[in-house]
Amino acid sequence: MHPYPRLTRVLGERTGKTLKKLGLETVDDLLHHYPRRYVNRGELTPLHEGEEGEYVTYVARLKDRQERRVKNNTLTLILLTFTDGATDIECAFFSKNRWRANKVARELDIGEHAIITGVVRMNRPRGAVVAVRELIHPEVHPLEDSIDPEEDPQGAKAQAEAPLVFYPAVKGVHNRTIINAVKTVLGPMQHGDVGEPVPAEVRQKYGVLTAFEALQNIHFPPTMEAVGRAKTALRFQEAFVLQTLLARRRRLLDTHQATPYPPHRGGLVDQLDDQLPFELTAGQQVVGQEISADLQRDHPMQRLLQGDVGSGKTVVALRAMLQVVDGGSQAALLAPTEVLAEQHARSIRNLLGALSDDVRLRLITGSQPRSQRQQALLDVVNGDANIIVGTHALLSESVSFFDLGLVVVDEQHRFGVDQRQSLVHKGEITPHQLVMTATPIPRSVAMTVFGDVDTSTLKDQPHGRAGVQTHVVPADNPVWMKRVWQRVQEEVESGGRAFIVCPRIKADQEDDGDALLKLLPEKPPSDLVSVEGLYKQLQSEPALEGTRIGVLHGQMSLDDKDQAMTRFLTGETPLLISTTVIEVGVDVPEATIMVIMDGHMFGLSQLHQLRGRIGRGSKPGVCLVVTNPTVASSLERLQVFESTTDGFELAEEDVKLRKEGDVLGRVQSGRRSSLKLLRVMQDQHLISQAREAAWQVIAHDPELTEHPDLAAAVERVENQQEYLTSA
Ligand code: ADP
Ligand code: MG
Repeated sequence: MHPYPRLTRVLGERTGKTLKKLGLETVDDLLHHYPRRYVNRGELTPLHEGEEGEYVTYVARLKDRQERRVKNNTLTLILLTFTDGATDIECAFFSKNRWRANKVARELDIGEHAIITGVVRMNRPRGAVVAVRELIHPEVHPLEDSIDPEEDPQGAKAQAEAPLVFYPAVKGVHNRTIINAVKTVLGPMQHGDVGEPVPAEVRQKYGVLTAFEALQNIHFPPTMEAVGRAKTALRFQEAFVLQTLLARRRRLLDTHQATPYPPHRGGLVDQLDDQLPFELTAGQQVVGQEISADLQRDHPMQRLLQGDVGSGKTVVALRAMLQVVDGGSQAALLAPTEVLAEQHARSIRNLLGALSDDVRLRLITGSQPRSQRQQALLDVVNGDANIIVGTHALLSESVSFFDLGLVVVDEQHRFGVDQRQSLVHKGEITPHQLVMTATPIPRSVAMTVFGDVDTSTLKDQPHGRAGVQTHVVPADNPVWMKRVWQRVQEEVESGGRAFIVCPRIKADQEDDGDALLKLLPEKPPSDLVSVEGLYKQLQSEPALEGTRIGVLHGQMSLDDKDQAMTRFLTGETPLLISTTVIEVGVDVPEATIMVIMDGHMFGLSQLHQLRGRIGRGSKPGVCLVVTNPTVASSLERLQVFESTTDGFELAEEDVKLRKEGDVLGRVQSGRRSSLKLLRVMQDQHLISQAREAAWQVIAHDPELTEHPDLAAAVERVENQQEYLTSA
């Protein structure tokens, strides 16, 4: 499985096993396990200098060690005295457990030299004339390979000025163990011992270090500046390898065969256009032409359609599907949730109107009655169904289609890169593919995640939208909260509908049943507003007297959900308390107000999606975000949300707040990203350079036969993805 030497072999069983705790099994793993932090020791300070409060670095020899119990015998104090021969300084370490006291303090031998970094305190012991410099819990590092500063001051100075290196901390693995392991492995290596995935011409053009130089500098940095250059080179390399993979994947896709679907004059697409109750926007027309042109080719379409919430993607998708149905094949539309799949089926039937009789649409969901589902599946297999709407589970199940010509995947941001791949290589002829997302994707993310597809963007919104006003409301202010419910009542009384969104279903629930609260580092607090709790509470809310309330969440049966939605649509229960199941795609033009409870529990993209549910008709919408943020950053996020409705702006902010892995859709499934240093937002410029270079390389050498190191690196990332997918 691992093409690289195993660490147990190179470093021995014991060290190998220790490093395995970090997930490091091969030499290659270790070389790419980068330090998390560097401490710049700056200029050395002579021991007789250093002001109170100053951050300094000393090099000195250990002269004395004392240990005593202090604070009523509750703490151990280890006191180290260092000297340069003339001046002494003291370093103090306190700890509850004497064995846990700073390990360096325990391990350093009298007479050994060390580098000491910390903040100076001037301590004048009672009765003493001169103050002594004291450092509390400084960083102490033995100057090993000991260059004795008294013998070789220059060498010791260079050694002391090199940044200190800290690897990501893991229990039971000392930083020093890793430093030594890297030294043993990388120390004797030379140029040529590690692969150079980035070709020399490319490195020269963009002025980046070789992989070997970069590894040297990131693990044994002579200066902080060298660390910077090493990181840039390694980031470039990551971006370049990933882009090469995408470029090659795209080339491969272009060699696949697809059925071409030329437009049919007077066919279903034309008939649909003739009977639509509105004009297509300019954007819908342009994008429609792009898609139509793709469908006419005998290579599979690979297109991403971006369009903010409410930009009218459904009709674009329907027109594409009808072009395929006109050609006698089937088209599938896949949504991330059942509620959405149902909603899609409903809106498509609406758009089709009288054409519904000519188009045989089948909805397939997991919670359908067995017999109904069986029948629908049968229709899919024997070709009786033209348009199939379902959840993405349709892909993983072994549903066989009679003749699938096009797959439309809605709300792709919920999917990872992997699911997208699972469509391809299923049978000889590959279906065309259209991926739709309502989350505007910053360009650099699009290049990274969707680098192998073409993109179309719907920029304009259909006319007649009145927009949404957003306000953040403090939950602990009873006057404001009363006003919230009054506002809801006003909207309902004038014929509107109100969404109330809660982060969880039940009060005692461990986790949200419908959405991952992705931004939270820890378990959500237990006092979050729940659908059921709020339902009870609002029954007796005077401001809402006479208003009928419905609930909707992911744990309800399909029938119950459907009924709840219908009662909301018809206005029987004009107030709907729900979880984020309504996040995407739900279209209720009468909805004018949305109250989001515990708004700080949601990410920016999620909030934007939620808000997109209102203000879709001609009446302006109001979005009230109720919050009690305990973390300042979540308030900041909500203020950004309050200040703009521009999806792109919010998306960029959102990405900045997230981890890269999450952006790449992997964290959700608990997987590791192949990107270690590359930051999708900040490294945009570098990503586009790498992209340009990678596509050029692939154009000249599609099989990478002239670039064996690059081929190996690409294969490694690909294997990692496959391995993770099957794990
Ligand atoms: P989304 O891009 O969020 O999926 P939808 O496709 O659900 O948006 O469209 C939102 C609403 O706008 C729907 O009610 C749809 O019928 C309507 N719509 C779509 N295109 C137009 C248009 N060109 N003019 C007016 N209304 C439109
Ligand atoms: Mg939609």
